[in-house]
Amino acid sequence: MSVSRTISIATPDDMHGLGLRLGRTVRAGDLLVLTGPLGAGKTTLTRGIGEGLGVRGPVASPTFVIARTHPSLVDGPPLVHVDAYRVGSAMELDDLDIDYARSVVVAEWGEGLLDGVASSWLDVRIARPTGAGTGTDVDDAADGDDLTDEPVEERTVVITAHGPRWNRADLAGL
Ligand code: ADP
Ligand code: MG
Repeated sequence: MSVSRTISIATPDDMHGLGLRLGRTVRAGDLLVLTGPLGAGKTTLTRGIGEGLGVRGPVASPTFVIARTHPSLVDGPPLVHVDAYRVGSAMELDDLDIDYARSVVVAEWGEGLLDGVASSWLDVRIARPTGAGTGTDVDDAADGDDLTDEPVEERTVVITAHGPRWNRADLAGL
């Protein structure tokens, strides 16, 4: 069974806010797979999820590691933030020995790599209805953040819930 919800996100702050609400909804054992091009807002969303969950930050794009575990500050589950951008196969992800059952796992670029690790998961797709503009400005490093520096522009987020854990009401509450 799967249910879906489409949400328009006007600004990075709104994306963070959606993450906050997601972070307050998820619990240990939950898996979120984020899909969308570079600069779509996957890390911005994950930062909100981390804050909503109450984990230790900062949540950033892991550059040298594939997965980073953020322990809870509120006696809840940790956030395992996976950036599978450079991961070639599900086998490589397997090597990380992620404790899915006791964590909230948010995977950027995890599509197709996480098949079968959970019976329920949220598929989160971020698109740019107006296109990506001209040239993707990947982080210029000079400003010290790890974000791509994208102009503020609407995003469309489609959240599809798979499996018995999720129902329409969960998505409606986001
Ligand atoms: P990803 O992890 O998908 O590569 P990031 O979250 O690192 O993307 O970067 C998204 C960039 O897009 C940030 O610079 C953010 O400020 C910018 N941005 C502009 N408009 C939006 C929006 N509506 N939602 C999310 N991010 C946006
Ligand atoms: Mg990212």
